[in-house]
Formats: sequence, structure tokens, C-alpha cells
Amino acid sequence: MADSLRVEEAADDALEVAEEGADRSVRVERYGLLPPTLLRERVASEMRAAAAYYNALISLERCRRDVFRSLRRAYVPEIDPLEEEVVRRREALSALRDQIKLTKREVGARDVVRALSEQATEERTRLFAAKAALKDARARARDDAGLREAALALEERTKVWHKGLRRSIAPSWGTYLLVERSIEQARRAVVDPAYRRVRGKERVSRQLEDLGQGAIGVQVQGGMTAEALYAGTSTQLQIVDAPLSYRRGRRTPRGLRKCATKMLRIRVGSGEGRVPVFAEFPLIHHRPLPEGAVIKGATVRLQVVGMQERWSVSITYEAECVPMPPRSGVVALDLGWRKRPDGGLRVAYWVDDAGEHGEIVMPASVRGRLRKCDDLRSIQDVLFNRVIRGLTRWLPKALFVPKWLTARTERLDRWRSHARLRRVVTHWRDNRFPGDWRVFPVLERWLHRSRHLSQWEENARDNALRQRHDAYCVVAARLARRYGVVVLEEFDLSAQKRLRPPAGEPDAPLAQRVQLHHAAPGEFRQIVTQAAQREGAQVLKLDGAGTTSHCHACGGACDWDQNRDIHHTCEHCGTLWDQDYNAAMNLLRIFVKGEAAQTRVPGSTKKPTRFGKRKGPRAAE
Ligand SMILES: [Zn+2]
Repeated sequence: MADSLRVEEAADDALEVAEEGADRSVRVERYGLLPPTLLRERVASEMRAAAAYYNALISLERCRRDVFRSLRRAYVPEIDPLEEEVVRRREALSALRDQIKLTKREVGARDVVRALSEQATEERTRLFAAKAALKDARARARDDAGLREAALALEERTKVWHKGLRRSIAPSWGTYLLVERSIEQARRAVVDPAYRRVRGKERVSRQLEDLGQGAIGVQVQGGMTAEALYAGTSTQLQIVDAPLSYRRGRRTPRGLRKCATKMLRIRVGSGEGRVPVFAEFPLIHHRPLPEGAVIKGATVRLQVVGMQERWSVSITYEAECVPMPPRSGVVALDLGWRKRPDGGLRVAYWVDDAGEHGEIVMPASVRGRLRKCDDLRSIQDVLFNRVIRGLTRWLPKALFVPKWLTARTERLDRWRSHARLRRVVTHWRDNRFPGDWRVFPVLERWLHRSRHLSQWEENARDNALRQRHDAYCVVAARLARRYGVVVLEEFDLSAQKRLRPPAGEPDAPLAQRVQLHHAAPGEFRQIVTQAAQREGAQVLKLDGAGTTSHCHACGGACDWDQNRDIHHTCEHCGTLWDQDYNAAMNLLRIFVKGEAAQTRVPGSTKKPTRFGKRKGPRAAE
């Protein structure tokens, strides 16, 4: 019971932090760790407990959703068939759209395309009707007093079960708070939440038991100063000097000398008489926490990249905001990748209100490295398919096949998972049987190559993605420090319209997807938003309808093949412009117009959504 009290207190802490406003902000500092040197077993069991607790809560949530649905079916029976209809119509519509796109490529198919388009319009009308009917039915369900009462009773019962689970299987305090926070998120999602895999990926090293991925955490109630953290007096979290052997640096499997100058001690439970029990990790202390920081908690995470463990700790603290000089500039960003003539990838184009503009390009080296990863992947696929084909042919002809092998190779010809086959071969190595002398050596050779290649690929991809992330962070920080307002287009990056095929490669759907994946404009957008929030700039997301098709110089609607050339000459005024420059200029203009409309007649126009708080001197405006 004491535990649940502490939870409520912690929740209050979090609220206080959120409300404190302009002069203090919550930040996170991340440090690299080496694998635990003390109580590794305890850390592992804590992570397993966290995963088990998570999955138990997910199962409870799925149960709650099922019960709620059956309640709703009893009170408002028309919702279910309507939901099914909406899904069916949506699928039919997207199938039609795909068909139109394919037909458009054929020569002389204009009439077919027209007929299909008419069909699509009808289907869309029907979809809208079904959606409206569903909305009405849902409103009725919300207003139904009987259903509301039943739902409240269900909510209460779920809470009781949740408490029961917490008492019986929850990991230690800080860690179960972490789990419950992610459960909160899963509960808000529209789709049914999925279970988390408890076991991690396969591991080459036999010395280490399989930890998989996971996290443990601690909360510091009321917070503690950075000085107290470094003094090593806290009962939750300490950072102390590392023994000399660690400070000299160590050779890691990747050949790097990582120098751990400090030790992180994080509480993983209590011993006799509530004495804290700490796990210890060598910590790569690349910079100290700022003076005056108030530490709120820490999370130790384990990720598996390739077949190696990667440990890190994120320390959450509160610090005073550095006052920012006021900035008044506005920059508009048009996001979306495009291949440049020199082979580089453009991620975005920016235009500011002083008339300056430029493009943001993904570093060519990142692109090369990601290409290499894709090559490695396709080599693995070729080898995998060859082995699968061979094995599928051999199995029915073999004189003797043990039962376990038959059971573990069911529907072999449909397999996609390399790891699954690797597990079978590893098992086979310890359970050889007569008659396998011809096929097994082939499999074993494949096993070695497959492991080597997949490890190479995963590490290379991880490095390349981190390099890209760094490059984007640098650009985003520069923009956020220079301008007071960052204007972005409100759109869904997965939407088809952003999948512009690169110039000179008219039909390359695969190349398209690969490049979108390489440039990751969505990631850049997220980084820009975060940087703006950190630096006290404002982020505006505007409806960008028509920004790509209209000329910024004369406002005329242009019609041309946007995929053929980066440049276009306006057919109304004759101005030659870069497509992305044009889109960014239009976005900037929409923003300026919106500001003017707001100052003239307040409340008369649709206000743009505002994200991020103005911090520092700008808040005083
Ligand atoms: Zn024009």
C-alpha cells in the first residue's frame, strides 16, 4: 500500500514539473554505459519482471476492450456493422486508386482511367456516408446512460485487477512506474495494444545469458541536486569515481577504447532492513550535469544491435532556462525528399522572411552507407532463399528425418525469418542424425555467413542512422537558434503525394520507397520541432494545400509533371523556379497572411495550431 502512495506522490511531482513554466525546463542527458559489473543477474531479472508485468497489463487492457465492445454491442448494436463497412469501403477505395495509378502508365488507357475515376468518386461518397453514420452511432453510444454506467463499473473492476497485478508481479518501484507510463500510452491508442517480446534476439556469445531489450528505472522523490548525485549519498542513484582499471579505458569488441571515468550505481531493490541494493555500471562521463540541476530520475536501457548489447542511461533533470535573445525572423520549411542532379538527397528547402533561402541535404556519406546496408541485406536474402530451396527439396527425399526437425520446419517454403532458420541450424548442430552429412555442412556454412552479414548490416545501419540523426540535429539547432518562428506544412508524410519519384527515374516505386526511407523527412521534422521547443522558437503547422501546385510569384495554378524536373517555368508569368523553393515561399506567404488576418479581425479566421511554449524573454510579450 505504501507503494501506491509513493506512486501518487511521484505523479504529483511530474505535474509540478509540467506546470512550472517558463524559467525552468525538464531535460534529459544520456550517457553510454558498459555492461553491469555488479548484480547483472538482478538487473536481468528486473528487466524480465518488467516485461512480464507489461504483458500482463496489456492482456488486462485487451480484456477490458473486449468486454467494453460486447457491452457496446448490447446497448448500441449498429456500431459494429458500420465499423466493418467503413473498413471495407476504405480498402475498396485504396484498391481503386492503386489500379488508376497503374492504368495511367499504360498508353491509350484514358477512357479506362476516366471510368475508374468515376467509380472511385462514387466509392468515396459511399465511404463518407458510412463514416457519417458511424459518427452518429458513436455519439448515441456516448449519450447512452446505461452504457456509461456499465463502462464506469468496468473501469472500476479493471482498476482492482490492476492493483492485484501490481501487488503480485510488479518489479521494483521505479521500474514499474516506467512500465505503467508506457501502459498509459498504449491505453490511449486506438488500435489494440500489442504484447512485447520477452526474449531478445539470438546471441552468438554463450557466456552471456539472453537479456533481450529492456529498461529499469528509479525516481528521485522531490529531486536531488547534481552535487548530491556525484557525492554518492542518495539511496536511489549515485555517480561515483570509477576504479583505475576502468579509467584507463577498455578494448570493446568493436575495437574502440571506451573510457569509463565514473560508475553509475542504480537501485534495483532492497535488502534486509530496507537497505538499498545497487547495480553498478561503468559510465562514460562525456560531460557533467549542469550546476543547479535537480535530478528527478534515471532510466537504464539495454538495446541489442547486431548481436551486441548496448547499454545507456538517461538522467532526467530540471534546470533553469538560459535566457534567449529575442528573435523575430520567420523561416518556412518545405519537407520532402528529392534527388539532386549530383546524386545527393534533398530533405527540405528553407526560405526566410529576409529573402534568404537554401536547401538541406542529407550527407552523401550517409547515403552511401545506407546503400551498403541494403546491399548486405539483399546478399543475405539471396543466400537464405538458396538454402531454403535446397532444404525444401532435400527433406522429402531424406531417408530419415527426426521428429523435431519435421516439427520445426513446417511450411519452410514460406519462411521469411533468417533468425528462425539460424535457430534450427544451431539446434541441429547439437542433434546430428545419420544421413545428414551432405546437407548439414551447407547449412553450417550458411549459418556462419548469415550471422556475419547480419551483424555487419545491423551495426552499419545503426552507425549510419546515428550519423544522419547528428547531421539533422546540427541543422535543426542552427535554424531554431536563428529564427523566432519555424513554419512547417501540416501533412502526413506517409501520404502518397509525398512519394515523388526522383527526377530522371519516372517509374521506380522501390527506389522511391528506399529513398524516402534513406532521407527520413519525418525524422527531420521531429528533430526540428524538438530543437525549436528547446531553443524557445515557435513551431507553426499550417495547412499546405496548393503550396506545390501554385506559383508563388503570380499565384496562378500550374499543371506539370512534378517528377520530371526540379525546376519549372510558370505558364502564367514565365518565372523559373525550383519546385521546393516555390512550395516553401507559398508556405511563408500563407503564414504572413494568417498573421495579418489575425491582427485585423481577431477570431475571424481559422487559427493555425501552435506548438511549443515560448520561453525566455519572448514569453513576456
Ligand atoms: Zn507565375
